[in-house]
Amino acid sequence: MKKEPFVTKTQLDEIVKEYPTPFHLYDEKGIRENVKALKEAFAWNKGYKEYFAVKATPNPYILNILKEYGCGCDCSSYTELLMSESVGQVGENIMFSSNDTPAEEFALADKLGAIINLDDITHIDFLEKTIGKIPETISCRYNPGGLFKISNSIMDNPGDAKYGMTTEQIFEAFKILKSKGAKEFGIHAFLASNTVTNEYYPTLARTLFEVAVKLQKETGVHIKFINLSGGVGIPYKPDQEPNDIKVIGEGVRKVYEEVLVPAGMGDVAIYTELGRFMLGPYGCLVTKAIHEKHTHKEYIGVDACAANLMRPAMYGAYHHITVVGKENEPCDHTYDVTGSLCENNDKFAIDRQLPKIDMGDLLVIHDTGAHGFSMGYNYNGRLRSAEVLLKEDGGTQLIRRAETPMDYFATFDCFPVYEELKKNTEEADKLGK
Ligand SMILES: *Cc1c(COP(=O)(O)O)cnc(C)c1O
Repeated sequence: MKKEPFVTKTQLDEIVKEYPTPFHLYDEKGIRENVKALKEAFAWNKGYKEYFAVKATPNPYILNILKEYGCGCDCSSYTELLMSESVGQVGENIMFSSNDTPAEEFALADKLGAIINLDDITHIDFLEKTIGKIPETISCRYNPGGLFKISNSIMDNPGDAKYGMTTEQIFEAFKILKSKGAKEFGIHAFLASNTVTNEYYPTLARTLFEVAVKLQKETGVHIKFINLSGGVGIPYKPDQEPNDIKVIGEGVRKVYEEVLVPAGMGDVAIYTELGRFMLGPYGCLVTKAIHEKHTHKEYIGVDACAANLMRPAMYGAYHHITVVGKENEPCDHTYDVTGSLCENNDKFAIDRQLPKIDMGDLLVIHDTGAHGFSMGYNYNGRLRSAEVLLKEDGGTQLIRRAETPMDYFATFDCFPVYEELKKNTEEADKLGK
């Protein structure tokens, strides 16, 4: 499938007048249409709820859009909990799916009334000591181990993953939790990431549903929900077939009717914690070509770097690139598209066939809406970019400003050198004006 930006050249030429590159741009219309389709796909399940994985795109404005559709927040850290609270997502609208959890995070999750999803059997004691009780509603994260295989293409290795409890442990955990007063139970598992197949959720659902039936029978607890977590992927590459969420929802429904309904568990709610699927395609990184370099290879230097989008550097991930306004020109040049970090892996593309790039051309780096801005960091003193929302009416809204040098220096504010940093920054800022 041809990959096209959700924003036109005409729009973008206007937008860059207001917001200097680089910045992440989000597509409100796409986000809304997608969340509607997700809800429809699972409408057959009465208790269905999506808990958006906040870590994918931690921005209150994005969280608010999803909240309109009844989505909750899936959090795994202190600041994610605070951000959810700031948009009124509290109580059972928060799923706290964390691991290696510090005590103060359990305490905050409990204060907010979040559903706590325990990553390990030892966390039962830890949680009880921390908050002085076991909550009435509790969830456990399951890891069946071994290899998880769907079709012939996608395989993941839960046996090598740090998350979740073994089969033996989850049975034991449910018994202990029940004896300590827990009343409503949930099961959670995340066994493969960025799956581009309609089979992932149905296959995972079968594993979880079968364990749920056994758990309910053997331990006598009431299972309220089964959380399929994240992992539904997006087609980063043009030749990949996108997931069809309707087919996925139907696939889960079939297994539900096959496994849970006959066991008298037709009241179980299905939860999801999608991140990438919710936002990935509806964000892009807009950057400008500022240098070309002809040495042993052909390089195009852009004004964004891995600090704005880490996935290519970290995983060698593919992100499609469109040279804005040159969509119909032949891709007859081979480039490495690089950022400025003093790290040779700071490349958005390696040996990519693209149209001839001229200095000042705008490049759209696709599919950065999830795990894009959020994985940003400050290496080399690089600053995080702004986030801009392209609204349904075609207007734009700044939803996070770019970092400034003073943001970078903020953690020196209790030291004498801070005044010096501030003075120097103010003077340097005048240079560019
Ligand atoms: C990262 C994460 C998700 C979201 O994963 P995606 O691949 O973005 O869908 C959901 N749940 C948990 C616990 C996670 O850590």
